[in-house]
Amino acid sequence: MTHNAPPLELRTRQVGPWGMNTYALICPTTQASVLIDPGDEPDALSAMLGDSRPVAILLTHTHPDHVGALAAMRQRLGVPLVAHPGPHAGGMALDADQWLEDGDTFALGAHALRAIHTPGHIGDQICFAIDDDARIIVGDTIFAGGPGKTWSAAGFRETLRTLRDVVLNWPDDTICYPGHGPHFRLGDIRALVEAFVRKDHGDFYGDATWEM
Ligand SMILES: [Zn+2]
Ligand SMILES: [Zn+2]
Repeated sequence: MTHNAPPLELRTRQVGPWGMNTYALICPTTQASVLIDPGDEPDALSAMLGDSRPVAILLTHTHPDHVGALAAMRQRLGVPLVAHPGPHAGGMALDADQWLEDGDTFALGAHALRAIHTPGHIGDQICFAIDDDARIIVGDTIFAGGPGKTWSAAGFRETLRTLRDVVLNWPDDTICYPGHGPHFRLGDIRALVEAFVRKDHGDFYGDATWEM
């Protein structure tokens, strides 16, 4: 929005048995913040938010490792829950306060986040792209070493479509912040992703690496 506002501060905390990355984005101008994917360890998540002013909890998707502390953090923070309308993991009925579909924006202080729907790993997977910024919170859409896990050949084919039609359209300088493992620059793995989507993977599904 205001392009001369100081950029959003990004904080990361790895929580829970699956080493899931919870992120917090904080507007330095207004101190407004969002908590993205409260996976586990409510006390650590509260500490991460510090003395910022939380305005919402955002979900990249509804797998258990990303929502383990959702009930606890909703209770603590008393802020709206914002997520994709689904379908959600295991057919759960998510009682969000606001739904974000592809292209919808969410105002955060002097900035805005834009939802990008990236189905495949799960139908309700969205990324949060920061407007006027190279950083995107990608959830389990894509990792440094491969795409997110799939549980059916149809899910894997949807992942391939998402990589080809969505992710590969992002600029090389995009910095991806995934749900697990380190962040990475898209340009550094573009050749691997391009080779991966060109290959015939048959009826494969499951854990994939770029090299397979
Ligand atoms: Zn997941
Ligand atoms: Zn995950």
